[in-house]
Parts: sequence; C-alpha cells; structure tokens
Amino acid sequence: MIRHWPASYHAPVTFQLACGPDGRAVLVDGDGVHDLERVSDRAFGSDPMEALARHRDLHAVAEGLAGTEPDTEFDVAKLGPPVPRPQKVFGIGLNYKDHAAESNNEIPDAPLIFTKFPSCLNGPAGDVIVWGPTTDWEAELVVVIGTGGRGIGGADAWDHIAGLTCGQDISERRTQRAGKPPQFSMGKSYDSFGPTGPAVVSVDSFDDPDDLEISCWVNDERKQHARTSLLIFSVPELVAFISGITTLVPGDMIFTGTPAGVGAAAGTFLSPGDVVRTTIEGIGTMTNNCVAPPG
Ligand code: ZN
Repeated sequence: MIRHWPASYHAPVTFQLACGPDGRAVLVDGDGVHDLERVSDRAFGSDPMEALARHRDLHAVAEGLAGTEPDTEFDVAKLGPPVPRPQKVFGIGLNYKDHAAESNNEIPDAPLIFTKFPSCLNGPAGDVIVWGPTTDWEAELVVVIGTGGRGIGGADAWDHIAGLTCGQDISERRTQRAGKPPQFSMGKSYDSFGPTGPAVVSVDSFDDPDDLEISCWVNDERKQHARTSLLIFSVPELVAFISGITTLVPGDMIFTGTPAGVGAAAGTFLSPGDVVRTTIEGIGTMTNNCVAPPG
C-alpha cells in the first residue's frame, strides 16, 4: 500500500531515484539497485518521469527496501540520466561571485537564465564529446522539480522539489560567445553536454540542502571547490523567479550555476582523453570521459 505524504510531512525514509541502462526507474539503496516497478508491486510503472511526479510516494517505497534483495549491484557506469525526458532545462549564469569575477562580469541583479535543450542530457558516466576547441567544464548543483506550479513562493520552493543531483553544464565557449549580443543556449546544448546523476536524491536526505560542498576535477587535478551556500540566487529564489514567468512541471531541471575554476578563466579546455569528475556532498560522483566527435 502506497501512502500519499502531505506536502508538509517530513517522510522518515529518503530516496535516491536513478535510471537504469534500459531506461527503467530504479531506487538506489546503499550498494544495491532495485527496479521501481518490481519493488512497488507495480504501484509505479517503469518511467522515471512518472516517479518524479509522484515523488512523495517514493518515500514509502524506499521504506520497504530495507533487508530486501536488490536486482543488481550499484554501478554508476550502468546508469543513464536520472531525468531522461524533462520538458525544460534551465541554466543559471554567473551565480557565484568568484565565477562572475573570473569571467570579468558584474554580479547580476536578477537571475541570468538560458536553456540547455533536453537533448544534450547525458548520464553520470556518459562520454562528453569534445565538439570544439573551447569545450569547458562547469560543475553545478541541479534541482529537479517534483510538484509543478506557477508563482511558487520562495518559502514553499523546497516542497516543490523532488530532489537534487549533480550536473555538468559543459559549454563550448566560442559558440557560447559568438553572437552580438551572445546567446548562450546553443553553445551549452551540443549533444552530450549535460551529464547528470548519479541519482535524484530526495531533499530530506540533506541536513541543509542550501549548503553542500561541490567539487570538480579534471584528470585528478581539482579545478573547482565551493559550497552551494555561496550561490548569489539561492535554490528557493531561483524556483520563485522562474515559476513567476513559466509554469514548472515535474521533471523540470535547474542547473544552478558554477563556481570559479572553469577552464576559460585559465585558457585551458577539454581534449579527448580528459576525465571530468564531479562530486556533490550527499549526492555522489559522476565520472565523464572526453572523446573526439564521431567520424
Ligand atoms: Zn553553467
């Protein structure tokens, strides 16, 4: 029996929702991966998008996992993007002061928003295709909407969020800056430019979801290291701002911006053979290999 948690109720069991290699929703529990349709006795189907829309019910399913046999062992290489088909993917520019400074930009007085087209999404171990000579890394906290709405107030924002995941807002800088004025969306939407995962981790998993350590390494050299408490526009402020313009629906994603340490600031970019590793406290680690374009 699946219970329906009221919005204000803090469910006792957290969940980690991921997407298996066959596109099926799975719950990660420690070292084990459980097929959601199976462990829920078919109360849920196999679609991760449906699971996100019913995020409050996932706590009850996760509660039933204790002591049960997983379908497989956890292997990040076998996971796809945890949100495979979002309607909208927002990116936030210049949302850490130190990154605005290294980019020689002023701190924005309202959120600076572009889109990453959902077709760029990639898994937590997917290959990043180096499409151009100025392909760059950007480690980011990614918000996944669970309960949609328009005009969501900042005080209610966390109740609308299914969970958090890691993201890489991979960017081809030459394309990003080519226009006059520049239009960011295409330079950030090349195929494979949106690694996400390993799982969507429920908000109640975190002691303070507004203050998480975030790091990015390229070939084992740490390039970025910050805390999400340094965001200029916090997660609730972003949800309030965006939902004041457009109706959010379950699965919509917000890449919340990157801290200092991107390649463009030092004039070094990604090449085939490089390895990008992204970690956020309480969520996990993505490892993405850089490869040459096909053909
Ligand atoms: Zn970014």
